[in-house]
Amino acid sequence: CYQRAYAPIHRGIYPLAETASAAYEAARKKTAAFINAAAPEHIVFTRSATESINMVALGWARPRLRPGERVWVTRMEHHANFLPWQRVCKERAAELRVIELEQDGSLALDQAAELFDKRTRLIALCHVSNALGRENPVEQMCAQAAACNIPVLIDAAQSAATMPLDAQKLNCDFLAFSAHKMYGPTGIGVLYAKPERLEETQPPLLGGGMVDEVHDNTHTPSPIPARFEAGSPNLAGAVGLAAAIDYLSALGMPRVQAYLAALTATATATLSQIPDVHILPTADAPRSSILSFTMPGIHPHDIAQIAAEHAVALRAGHHCCRPLMRALRLDATTRASFAVYNGPEDIDALAEAVERARGMFG
Ligand code: PLP
Repeated sequence: CYQRAYAPIHRGIYPLAETASAAYEAARKKTAAFINAAAPEHIVFTRSATESINMVALGWARPRLRPGERVWVTRMEHHANFLPWQRVCKERAAELRVIELEQDGSLALDQAAELFDKRTRLIALCHVSNALGRENPVEQMCAQAAACNIPVLIDAAQSAATMPLDAQKLNCDFLAFSAHKMYGPTGIGVLYAKPERLEETQPPLLGGGMVDEVHDNTHTPSPIPARFEAGSPNLAGAVGLAAAIDYLSALGMPRVQAYLAALTATATATLSQIPDVHILPTADAPRSSILSFTMPGIHPHDIAQIAAEHAVALRAGHHCCRPLMRALRLDATTRASFAVYNGPEDIDALAEAVERARGMFG
């Protein structure tokens, strides 16, 4: 892209600019096909999943939330799908409600009696938890919400590269994800939305590239999706995302999903055999490509540090899920996150690292 198609898009009419514009729009088309969106126009490029969710909070929810209405999230949300709702609810005197979790990490839907109530303005939940690896029943929730006319936003940051996504089958209103979790570049995210929801959304950012007509005191925004992409868009990011999608599509998402499920199951079984390893939420809970654990008396950072010294890259911390950590009465966990380039030898290395930590601190 930088060598052969690098020019400002949607502006120039010289050949290089036309090549660049075509590459950007081809990336949009590819992204739409990857998640089975009905049309490329339903795809907005953003900076990240975080920006995609904030765009919905600021551009869609803020103007329409009324006092006393509710936005529901779940206890396992990443801060990216928690804080934007906290802010708009506060600003609009609306209520942020949280769906709690069962012991096994599944959603305690029977405790959320008012979830599908007429006061609910939006349900925003992750497809897969980045801290627990739990997959939520998003398709059923969308069906139930649609029957009550309640829009649903799905945070697919953790699922976009680990399982097939079908936006039309899910029938969600909004879906957010980003390229850096899909083997692609940083700085490019995606917001998918049903066209009627995009039409309802006010662009949070204004400027060049998103407007058709401008007078001193008024302007006419461009049609969707351009109206949400003010400024010079991230051409190289979009092209990088398209390359990542080509890579994943060549592997085949059902194959990726099956491979990661088998790898994660083996890792879970292996780590469960090590004394003192507590797998979250429970060892036998279903999980998708994420294995989060604690060891009594050993700080998660120490485990990650020892693992790092042996070239095993683990993440330790609250995983940007402080409301979840508080509910679990934990400060942090250690987390292994599996990708298509991992194999059984990595599980052996992980187990060795954990054993080593146990030997040093246990
Ligand atoms: N949601 C979940 C479940 C995540 O795991 C992450 C990133 O870790 C995000 C949202 C935020 O994604 P981004 O870094 O693209 O803003």
